[in-house]
Amino acid sequence: MRIVIATSNKGKIREIKELFHDREVFPYTELMEAFEIIEDGDTFKENALIKARAVYQALGDAEAVVVADDSGISVDVLEGAPGIYSARYAGEGCSDKDNFNKLINAVKSAGFESSPAYYTAAVAIVSKEGESCVHGWMHGDISIFPQGENGFGYDPIFTPSGQTLTLGELDSEVKVGISHRSKALHLAKMLIDQIKAQRS
Ligand code: IMP
Repeated sequence: MRIVIATSNKGKIREIKELFHDREVFPYTELMEAFEIIEDGDTFKENALIKARAVYQALGDAEAVVVADDSGISVDVLEGAPGIYSARYAGEGCSDKDNFNKLINAVKSAGFESSPAYYTAAVAIVSKEGESCVHGWMHGDISIFPQGENGFGYDPIFTPSGQTLTLGELDSEVKVGISHRSKALHLAKMLIDQIKAQRS
């Protein structure tokens, strides 16, 4: 059973491959040209399903099981922003650094140096058996002082609850043990196992 990941984000691909180390997974960009997917949903779930459906249809392989993640960070003092707009907070085509710098400036402008925040991951699965979506969350705090270079995206400014270091400083194994994406992917794995059992 071919599991295809509907993302070209290198950070996500690395994390998903780590978690699915016992299975054969392919980023869709190894199987076809990357193409633009308009993520115009209002929720993480809608956007994850939009990505998974688009890649499933484009692949033209009825047997494929496509997995897509839509994720982002929500900051309390910014009333939940950037949320579903996390990837393009500083504008279309902006870098991870542009995004976290914009977030730092927004938090500073609101008069704070830190704030409770949480990551959300919605993981959608699309196959000939149908569509489903599961979620995972990771709570913690963001700070206006970035530390470390591990991970990706907002990781240098996010310290998970129960930790003293940012995700930019912590080893990837620590992140895999606690992250929003890992939690959602563990649930997704169970759904994929059900599909496998149904097919055999
Ligand atoms: P997506 O690719 O449209 O789902 O956008 C996800 C965006 O949310 C990424 O580009 C990052 O900015 C942010 N994000 C999601 N998960 C993480 C994470 O684990 N670490 C850091 N940033 C993340």
